Amino acid sequence: MSADVRDFGRGIARIRLPLPFPGLQWTNAYVIRSDGETTLIDTGVDSAESWEALETGLGALGLHVSDLTRVVGTHLHPDHMGMAHRVVSASGAEFVMHESVPGSLAEYNDWSIARRRTATLAAEHGVPDDARERIGAISPRPDWAGTGIEPTGLVADGDRIDVGGGRHVTAIHTPGHEGAHICLVDSTTGALFSGDHILPRITPVVMHHPDGDRLGTYLDSLRRIERMDIGLTYPAHVTVLQRGSLRARQIALHHERRLGAMLQELRQGPTTAWEVVGAIFRPHLGTLEQRLALSETIAHLEYLRLRDEVERTMEGGVWYYRLPEQRW
Ligand SMILES: [Zn+2]
Ligand SMILES: [Zn+2]
Repeated sequence: MSADVRDFGRGIARIRLPLPFPGLQWTNAYVIRSDGETTLIDTGVDSAESWEALETGLGALGLHVSDLTRVVGTHLHPDHMGMAHRVVSASGAEFVMHESVPGSLAEYNDWSIARRRTATLAAEHGVPDDARERIGAISPRPDWAGTGIEPTGLVADGDRIDVGGGRHVTAIHTPGHEGAHICLVDSTTGALFSGDHILPRITPVVMHHPDGDRLGTYLDSLRRIERMDIGLTYPAHVTVLQRGSLRARQIALHHERRLGAMLQELRQGPTTAWEVVGAIFRPHLGTLEQRLALSETIAHLEYLRLRDEVERTMEGGVWYYRLPEQRW
């Protein structure tokens, strides 16, 4: 296998790790080398192909897995964390993630928890029986998700992670796409490692979660990056971004437009989240896309409800969203 490696200079390189599902082609893992220490940001999925790409990529940089000093995970998703257990055990590297990760590992390792929650959501938000069975079906957890392991080092917002020779990356807690998400600012270049918080061309998925207002949290996290006036940004998928803060603004605008489209839809009268999915998203979605579309739509409708822009009432076990009386 030929390595898909790019050396950006100033101690930063990217290794592309292949993904086994449609849509995204690879996870961008980044290597920071400083004064004999080697830091790997994200590890890709747990697969033979991903492992081979990592070994080959490190080899092209004159490194071996055993040279890794530390692994930093941007967030608790399998395309970032899947192979961490293997990389950490093979290298003995320290493993750093956000301090909230230990509380979420049980759910990472047992997909039936989230799937049962999705089945309940589907029932309460008007998904018809046939689609509901598919959306809520508990399928075997794929091997590529890997086993989530406890980090050996935990960071909070603003904490510095020393990467060697006086260089450090600063953790910026950016929840929304996932609750434990961190971006990292490099002290030497000022560049941002944005994980899945900010991506070029595509907008990261923001799913409803019972822990609260995921879209509001995500928009707050986008505003934070926007205010930091970030330029060069290394995202975990697709390609390098030159203007990270501008991209944060564009993604926020995408969600504002979507919120506007949903409010428009509710002008028809009481509407279920599933009906909003049918109106907003393209037809003929696959099961995974339906699951994501339903969850994203609920996150948007709940965002509006928590700000008193819409109300909801339950009838026959199903939530109907509507505009408040004065807006009819
Ligand atoms: Zn993710
Ligand atoms: Zn990802």
